[in-house]
Amino acid sequence: MNRIAPGSADLIRRPDPRQATLAYESGTVPVHCSAWPPEEPLPLYPALAGHIETDVVVIGAGLAGASVSLHLAELGVATVTLEARQPANGASGRNAGHVQPFLDVLEPLQAWPDKGRRLVDALIQHRNIVYDLCLKHGIQGDASPDGLLEAAFQPSAALEQKARRWRDFGYEVNPVDAAQVRTMLGTERYRWGIHWKEGGRVNPYLFTQGMVAAAARLGARVYGDSPVSACEKDGQRWRVTTPWGTVLARRIVVCTSGHAGNAFFPQLAQTQYPLVACGLATRPLPDALLETLNPSRVVFTQFPTGLYPLVIDGRKRLVTATIPGPGQAGNAETHFNYLLRYLHRTFPQTRAFTLELESYWTGVTASSSHVYHQDYAKFYRVEDNVFALMNLGTWGNVMGPLLGMSLARALAAGRPEDCVLPLEAPVPVRFPGLFEFKVRRLMIPAARLVDKLGFT
Ligand SMILES: Cc1cc2nc3c(=O)[nH]c(=O)nc-3n(C[C@H](O)[C@H](O)[C@H](O)COP(=O)(O)OP(=O)(O)OC[C@H]3O[C@@H](n4cnc5c(N)ncnc54)[C@H](O)[C@@H]3O)c2cc1C
Repeated sequence: MNRIAPGSADLIRRPDPRQATLAYESGTVPVHCSAWPPEEPLPLYPALAGHIETDVVVIGAGLAGASVSLHLAELGVATVTLEARQPANGASGRNAGHVQPFLDVLEPLQAWPDKGRRLVDALIQHRNIVYDLCLKHGIQGDASPDGLLEAAFQPSAALEQKARRWRDFGYEVNPVDAAQVRTMLGTERYRWGIHWKEGGRVNPYLFTQGMVAAAARLGARVYGDSPVSACEKDGQRWRVTTPWGTVLARRIVVCTSGHAGNAFFPQLAQTQYPLVACGLATRPLPDALLETLNPSRVVFTQFPTGLYPLVIDGRKRLVTATIPGPGQAGNAETHFNYLLRYLHRTFPQTRAFTLELESYWTGVTASSSHVYHQDYAKFYRVEDNVFALMNLGTWGNVMGPLLGMSLARALAAGRPEDCVLPLEAPVPVRFPGLFEFKVRRLMIPAARLVDKLGFT
């Protein structure tokens, strides 16, 4: 049976259907449409009221802003975090829960001043940062380091090369044959793959909220429902304005991802390629099915298409994300039917069970490049003492905490240039719609066909 998520259904029933379509297309459906917020809502952070002063203001409490705030607070830097709604309201509360502890390609990093050495070194050293932070701060984020499997129809030289490269960096990553894939995943469709022992899954909403709560325990002052409307110079400091309050700060870190709808620092709004993506979660799967469907619980993705990154979460739900076709972002049923067809093809055992859709939602990623594998996060010097960490693209679960930590350490030391990302000036991209056009109109339809026909 197909069922539309309760939150989404409310939206669809609204009198003006264009409103619902717009909300899905812009990734602004209420975050409770996503699979990740708990049934019992978390305590709300109050809105900023009145005037306060601090050293650093962090604007935006997604994975990036949460990590910057947490690590600044840990280092004893006076920090105020301002979030337009509540933490994890943006892409961070809506993602697919994959924790990918590696980069797909490194070649474009050769153009960086340090050839990307510091980023790669930091990633290698902190590749388990999600799980480490959960342990350190007691974050209940359904975080499980079950490993990752990139499964393919046949051996791939590109994947083998990637595995070799990261093995040389000290990772445990090995090719697996058809029998091993069958044992791990419970399918005969993929006959080869590479298995990463590290990485796995996390509930990104709870993880982001957990980082923010830890920051607050360490002294950061966190305000929800406090959209920043202006940032103006006030002597040597910056005055940051929200509807009911202001903050006077020495430094600002902007972590607003696509920066959409923001009038302050407008140069940031043109630095990325937005892409709407949708997420789906089934109701908890029957135990009998879970005995044969991905019994290893490894997080898995399909090579080369990456069509349905699949996670089985702590509530035994199947969670995935995909890219909606043009104009199709609001169509839960279409995307659930695509998923069912994929599952029936790949795991014939699912045909004997009734799978129900529990949640359907959308969110927007912000990428710095329209070439998928050249998409690295950006660290901008926007103005004097104003920095931005944004454009985390499709891999924010590790990059958000990692880069947030690096930036916080660099700021605390008064040496922003020590961040593992190069410090750049924001540069507008020429055709912001290009990535979305390529992915939604060309790549995803092609990927669905490739998967259906079993090509590589
Ligand atoms: C469907 C989907 C699936 C994905 N799957 C994965 C995955 O499996 N693994 C993975 O690693 N990554 C995944 N990603 C990518 C990942 O979610 C993002 O890279 C990451 O969440 C970006 O974090 P962020 O903090 O930069 O942005 P966001 O989480 O969007 O945070 C920005 C915050 O800024 C706030 N804000 C904006 N304007 C203002 C203002 N004026 N004042 C105050 N606050 C403001 C917003 O409310 C928001 O909370 C996925 C993304 C999507 C959409």
